[in-house]
Amino acid sequence: MSRLTALLIDDDPNVHDLIDFHLEGVVDRIFHAEHPASGIALATHEMPDVILLDIEMPYMDGFQVCRELKQLALTRDIPIIFLTADNATHHVARGLDMGGTDYVTKPFVAVELQARVRAALRTRRLIELLRVHARVDALTGLKNRGALEEALERSAAEVARRGGGYAVALLDVDHFKVVNDTYGHGIGDEVLRQLGATIGGLCRPTDLAARYGGEEFALVLADTNQATAITICERLLNAIRKIRVSAPAGEFGFTISAGLAMAGGNCPTDDALQRADEALYHAKGLGRDRLVIWTMASADDLVS
Ligand SMILES: [Mg+2]
Repeated sequence: MSRLTALLIDDDPNVHDLIDFHLEGVVDRIFHAEHPASGIALATHEMPDVILLDIEMPYMDGFQVCRELKQLALTRDIPIIFLTADNATHHVARGLDMGGTDYVTKPFVAVELQARVRAALRTRRLIELLRVHARVDALTGLKNRGALEEALERSAAEVARRGGGYAVALLDVDHFKVVNDTYGHGIGDEVLRQLGATIGGLCRPTDLAARYGGEEFALVLADTNQATAITICERLLNAIRKIRVSAPAGEFGFTISAGLAMAGGNCPTDDALQRADEALYHAKGLGRDRLVIWTMASADDLVS
């Protein structure tokens, strides 16, 4: 289990000492902010598992901080526990309506504070679990299109920050409609399942394999030069040629076409998937069952 972290945003330094004391053993690390703005900055930077947020603060109260945190994609799902003076519990309804998970009144009762933080951490884990499941393609067990789009954004940001390059491949089953028409959709699904298992099995841990939609799959090959990307794709095409799918009428095999585009270095990152798609289209036009690498030349071919 990874380290559990909390962020405390409260203008009263004494509260920071108290929370440190009470939450020892409940979380592994506590980040501290005495000003709302620095609290929001810490939240986006550290991505804590739970945020303890004072309601009564000067300049910007806890409600405003909550509103900002709930508007940011990075911090939206972090549970917020409001801290409030016990003569101000009328505030609590408003805080919970704004997306707060819970509240604790000051002065703290240690066991109550600890129990509420533990409950918020359980909520956080459930949200993460849901998020993991929501990124998975149900048929193949590979990542889904949403996860792919995130991975593409992440890879582009990583290359902008650190340099290097990655590859994006788009794969499409050849004549999949014929498979469905000949053997039925149940067998068509079996083709996609076996294809997904083969693609997933040949990926490196740092790569991302996703079902892009229908019979189309995508790979994001992290930290990869063109030669390595070609090797991985050719190996994949070979493995797929060997797949045998059982159908009542007997076993059959199938092939895929693949388009590969490099990103980073001299290649742009923002349209890598689209370039892979153009190369894939080219592979289909050249007779299928092959890999085409996107280059300026093949792009010229496409527009001619
Ligand atoms: Mg205060």
